[in-house]
Amino acid sequence: MDKKWLNINNKADQVYIKGVDGFLEWAYSQPRVNGMIRCPCKLCVNTKFKHRNKVRRDLLKKGFWESYTVWDMHGELRSVQDKKIVAKVEDCSSNKKDISDINVKKFNESIDSLYAWVYFIFLMVAVGFWSWSLLLSSMVARRNHI
Ligand SMILES: [Zn+2]
Repeated sequence: MDKKWLNINNKADQVYIKGVDGFLEWAYSQPRVNGMIRCPCKLCVNTKFKHRNKVRRDLLKKGFWESYTVWDMHGELRSVQDKKIVAKVEDCSSNKKDISDINVKKFNESIDSLYAWVYFIFLMVAVGFWSWSLLLSSMVARRNHI
């Protein structure tokens, strides 16, 4: 089954939408499906049973659960051997992804705090200059008065 569309992040992409529709078509054509399937979106992660239009909306809005690469909950078969290999591959790729996500997040956070600091220092310097100029001008005014 073609699952390349799962790697598309843009949920408005026609290929992604077609992939979602293909998945729904296939999942609902499975025997024993009685109007509802487990929703494989990022939020439900196969824990909720939903109607087709709701599952479609979830998948187009929230995205497909990345770790769910073998659709065994929706009738896709996998042999015992495959299961082991897939599980290993899943572990490796999900770990790597998690780490890079965390790094990116940390990096973004440090950039944010750096900007906050620069802004803060700039504000302090500006306020400092302003109060100094007030003080100086009042001193000058006082001296001129005398
Ligand atoms: Zn869902």
